[in-house]
Amino acid sequence: MKLMEYQGKDLFRRVGIPTPRGVFATTADDVKTFITENPGSWVLKSQVMMGGRGKAGGILFADDAAQGEQLAAGLIGKVLRSVQNPDGEEVRALLVEEKVDIASEAYVSITIDRAAKKPVIIVTAQGGMDVEEVAERDPDALKKFWVDPAAGYSPYIGRQLAFAANLPVGYRKAFPGILGALYTLFMEYGANLVEINPLVLTKDGRVIASDAKVELDDNGLYKHPDVAKWNSDSPADADQAAAVAIGLGMSNYAKFDGTVGIIANGAGLGMGTMDAVRGAGGEAANFLDIGGGAQAELVKKSYNLVTSDPKVRVMFINIFGGITRGDQVAKGIVEALAGDDIRKVPLVVRLTGTNAEEGRAILAEAGFVPVETMDEGAARAVALAQGAA
Ligand code: GDP
Ligand code: MN
Repeated sequence: MKLMEYQGKDLFRRVGIPTPRGVFATTADDVKTFITENPGSWVLKSQVMMGGRGKAGGILFADDAAQGEQLAAGLIGKVLRSVQNPDGEEVRALLVEEKVDIASEAYVSITIDRAAKKPVIIVTAQGGMDVEEVAERDPDALKKFWVDPAAGYSPYIGRQLAFAANLPVGYRKAFPGILGALYTLFMEYGANLVEINPLVLTKDGRVIASDAKVELDDNGLYKHPDVAKWNSDSPADADQAAAVAIGLGMSNYAKFDGTVGIIANGAGLGMGTMDAVRGAGGEAANFLDIGGGAQAELVKKSYNLVTSDPKVRVMFINIFGGITRGDQVAKGIVEALAGDDIRKVPLVVRLTGTNAEEGRAILAEAGFVPVETMDEGAARAVALAQGAA
């Protein structure tokens, strides 16, 4: 299974490889909104399987929201073609990423050398272009290391390769760690190929994976069911994309057939909430896991995402306060509902844990009556959903 860049970068972040800040977008309007809220220079990167997107016109730069909107409108729906891919591939989604000032572009990959029966790491300081081209023109510039799988990876391998490939000194400190993380990804996810081209050294001294190419062995996918679901042959799943667009993981949002929209923190609490709703005779319309450290702004975006599902007749927010504080959640709810460009549905809120008292006070002041227990909340949500039917 081949992954798109944004999916490969999701795995990169899981193992700790630095990636540029960014969001996933499926419409020009998303791009406009994002750049309006985050002024600066951004790269619009077409999310297609084919490589060589830069040359094919699939990578563009925008310095403001209007330009971003215009370029995105031109990219989405466009068919990108290359010599390797004359039939082309339609762009259905973009990755909008911070434009970094590049000091250097390196290349690093890990594949299996079938003859040697070992993973082989390849590094060159000549990144940003086809590695095949480098292999042809300047084969000595490619430095290789065959890893003994029994011994695994050690930082000295990275230090040695950085030195042998003559990577600019700016890479030296970060490189062994990044390569180690890439090796972990390679083994842990059963990859046939992991490639960072370019691995960028920025003018302000950061080392970042600017591109990601990952191919997983289908036989190992059972170990990572969440990744197995990313069907790379079909266009990016709109629900995954929506969760990523508000800063959550791809698997944080799931849709079902019922009428109760659910926001909870943690997949476990989410399952529990769905069960409670079912126990009360209802069914979840969807479930959004807002994760551990939700701030008011994320709660607001989450509210909008969940209510954008037309099946939702009532919203049940169930938060167990830990890192996520009850007062932040309450503030987010009040702010979300203060706008008039939102879809208002009856709301049931249960807050417990850290700062729950404060949260309940904020809600009470805004005219909401929070519930005490999950079952009580589920019962009320189902009653409201049926009443609103
Ligand atoms: P590919 O052509 O499909 O391999 O796409 P890449 O993600 O590798 O991007 C192609 C090229 O675009 C890179 O080698 C860079 O030269 C350029 N590029 C991508 N992101 C940035 C960026 O943030 N800043 C600058 N200056 N160039 C970028
Ligand atoms: Mn590339």
